[in-house]
Order: sequence, then C-alpha cells, then structure tokens
Amino acid sequence: MIIAGTLLLPDTDSERPGVRLAQGWLRTEGGRIVEVHEGGLPASFDLGGDGHLISPGFIDTHMHLPQFDLIGAHGMSLLDWLDQVTFPNEARWADPDYALTMTERVIDQLLSVGTTSFVGYATVHHEATKRALDCCARRGLRAVVGQVLIDQEAPDSMLRDADECIAETELLLNDWPSHPEQRTPGNRVSTAVTPRFAITCSEGLLKAAGDLAKKHDAYIQTHLAEMLPELEAVAKLHGGPDYTSVYHRAGLLSPRTLLGHCIYLSDNERRLIAETSSVAAHCPTANSFLRSGTMNREQLSGAGITLSLGSDIGGGYERSMVRVARSMIEATLHAQCLAPSASESWWQATAGNADALGWPGTGRIQENAEADLVVIQPDIRWQTAHNPLGMVMFAWDDRWVNATVVNGEVAYSQ
Ligand SMILES: [Zn+2]
Repeated sequence: MIIAGTLLLPDTDSERPGVRLAQGWLRTEGGRIVEVHEGGLPASFDLGGDGHLISPGFIDTHMHLPQFDLIGAHGMSLLDWLDQVTFPNEARWADPDYALTMTERVIDQLLSVGTTSFVGYATVHHEATKRALDCCARRGLRAVVGQVLIDQEAPDSMLRDADECIAETELLLNDWPSHPEQRTPGNRVSTAVTPRFAITCSEGLLKAAGDLAKKHDAYIQTHLAEMLPELEAVAKLHGGPDYTSVYHRAGLLSPRTLLGHCIYLSDNERRLIAETSSVAAHCPTANSFLRSGTMNREQLSGAGITLSLGSDIGGGYERSMVRVARSMIEATLHAQCLAPSASESWWQATAGNADALGWPGTGRIQENAEADLVVIQPDIRWQTAHNPLGMVMFAWDDRWVNATVVNGEVAYSQ
C-alpha cells in the first residue's frame, strides 16, 4: 500500500525530540513500513494526497476500557467518583459477553480518532479481561490490557481473593507475555500486572503482584499520587515513609512500570521512580476533570523520570490523543513550566509513548517500523499557517481522520 501526503517524520536535528513535516510518500508491506521517500507525490497512491497529513498512529498509555461509558460524570472528586460511578459501571463486566461487545465498541472509537495502540485496565473479572485481550489481538492493535487487582476498600462487586486473582493474572501472563519473542508472530497484545492502586490492595496483594511481575518480567500498571485525600488514605493503610515507597517495597517499580498521574511526589519519591526507570503517565484531562491537581512535567523530567501521556478515560474525557496532547501543553502552561511545542507534543503521543513502553519500532514513520498510521485531512489552511502543526493540534477535529491503518491494514476509513 502506498500512502502519500505531508509525512510527520522523526525530527533528529533539534535539541528536544519532535516530529517534522515533509512532503513525500511511504509504502507498507506485511505490517511494516518498507519505504519512506521525501519529495513530490507519486503518480498514484492508495491513501492520502495533497493537503493530507500522514502521522504515526497515536498511543494512549493510560485508560480504562470499561469506563468509556461513563465519560463526563463530573462534579465529584476521585474517591467519590470511584464509588458512585466507576465501580458500578465496571461491575457490568461480570458478564464476559458484555465486556466483549464493549471492547469492540471502544476499539471502533479508538480507531476513529487515530489511536492504534494503548495500555489499559480491564476490570477485576478474569473472563472479561480474556475477552478484551482476544478482541484486541483479533482487531490487530498493539495493546497491553490487565486484569485489575483489588482485595480491599471497594464494594463487594469489586472485591477478589488475593491468591485467586494473582493466579488468574499468571494464566494471562502465560498466554499474553510482555516479551515479543515469547508471543506468536504477529500478535502484538500483552497483559500487565494491574494492582488498581494502593488503597484497594492489601500489602500481601501488592507484594504478590510485584513477585509475579518480576517472575515474568511483565508490564505493571497502577495509579500513584493522583490527589491529596488518596495520599492520606494510603499512609493510614500502608504506613510511611511515602506512597511511592509502598510500591517500591512490593517490588512494583521497574522499567516496565507505568504509574498513572504522579502529581504529588516528594524528592525521595521522584528519586525512587527515576532510579527504577519507572514511567510516569501524565493524564492532563483527567487531572483537570477530577480537579486532582496539575502534574509538573518539568520537575519530573528534571529528576530523570521518563514521561508518557494518557487519556485516562473515563476520568479523562478526551478520546483523541491529539486533544490530550493539547491539554498537556495547557496544563504545562498552568504549572508555569516550559511548555512543549506542538512538534514535541505530537512526538509524545506517538514515538515518545512508544519509547516509554520499550517499543522502538512503533509510533514513527521510518523504514521497518510497524505500519500503524493515520491519514488526516484538515479542512483549514494549515499548510501556510505560522505554526502548521500547532494549528492542526489546536483546531483539531476528529472528522479529519480520513483513515486509520493498523498493522498495515486499513482498520478505519471514513
Ligand atoms: Zn486511571
């Protein structure tokens, strides 16, 4: 397949990572990008054209599959929102058929906004998580989906026996390992060890989760320091010296660990996260929606922490990673930090997120990279704008997504 237009290529010349615009075309074959050419458009092509932008597919590094049906439940703080809205919705995944049809629905939505990869939470339900993993593999996405671990401080419908849910997670790890060489060729789906957060996990469950992740060198996803009342509750349940140490003691910090939010951290905590090469997932839309606070990106990256970006649906309300990236710029401005450029923000939502996940061949337009691509057709005069990519990002309209290519196949087309 030949795709032509203005390519968003890796910018290797500037000091900070980013993307650059260049007219040209690319050819895909067998799920890979096999040729990339800058210059005039070819005489014939399959997708794109003059005025089209060709971007790597977007990567969402923090979201909750069962929460797409509760977007917009505003006016509550995190802990009330969990009890009143989130847990009742997640309880519906006790029915695996429901989980499957919902996952299909969510994937349709992701593709329509150009998201081709994601890291997400399922629920405490094993069968439902299996269906979600199967569905992602069948639809061709690159995804990491985990069964949520909860054994305390939650409604009965969400509570699980610690040993049982650890055993179930191990079954998933055997079928959906984190290492590509352990997976069947072409399968781009893994599971993650997924303790929801320290409040809803006993010390024993956290430790078992850490041991299990270490045994399988698996991805880990959890939440950390999203809001102040959460910090107080964690201190009461798990003791000191701080929230991050609770995960560190349990062996849950590793280069494969994604920590959602990371708003309220001490110097010691930032040091622990940096030393263990764990990743802090910035979720700007959820942070503002639940009035949790503002992540200080500069402070975290200054401490040597790798950052990623996530929608955190449904605490976050934006499905489009372009709009999440835009919110990241706005949040950074509010935190009085140096705001990333549109180029750097676009890089973050694509190659930057891929790098944070250890996926060097994803999220970028270059030879031999995975053919996950978005064909974008803006209806504004972006090409002659003062800041073309800034215009595309801030004027963004989901209707501009003309086609989404996943693993070399057109998976969505208008
Ligand atoms: Zn979350």
